[in-house]
Amino acid sequence: MITSKDCIKKYGIPYDEETTTVNENSLFENTHMVLWDVPADINLAIPAIPNKIYCNKDMVAPLEKGFRNVIARKLTHEIKTWDGCFNIRNKRGLSTLSIHSWGDAFDINAAWNGLNKKPTMSKELVQCFLDAGFDWGGFWKRLDGMHFQLAKI
Ligand SMILES: [Zn+2]
Repeated sequence: MITSKDCIKKYGIPYDEETTTVNENSLFENTHMVLWDVPADINLAIPAIPNKIYCNKDMVAPLEKGFRNVIARKLTHEIKTWDGCFNIRNKRGLSTLSIHSWGDAFDINAAWNGLNKKPTMSKELVQCFLDAGFDWGGFWKRLDGMHFQLAKI
């Protein structure tokens, strides 16, 4: 599992520190983030997925693979909502940065897979993204069933 330390090592910090004159946030976004134009056939098959997703460049290929697994395995109806990717914030209730801060995580079906609640996502849907290179928060001690993040960077 990747940690915020791994992300800092690879990408730097995604926000501006008061102690530096460098615009760390712009530097991070300009270097590592992309507005991914989701292929039209994916949007057609899974209407909940936005046409454009602002995410880390490292996430484009695995995310596309995950969506294609969902389509090939006929589970498209199981993705009800897209609940975000890039968001510079701490893990909820904790003091470390969430992997969302580097655009290497996304949430789906949040309304039915809340933090510390028993996830309702099917094993098959989860497997689509595990096979594409993601870790799933529903396996964690602190249950986060809506959450997927890159397994490796
Ligand atoms: Zn999340």
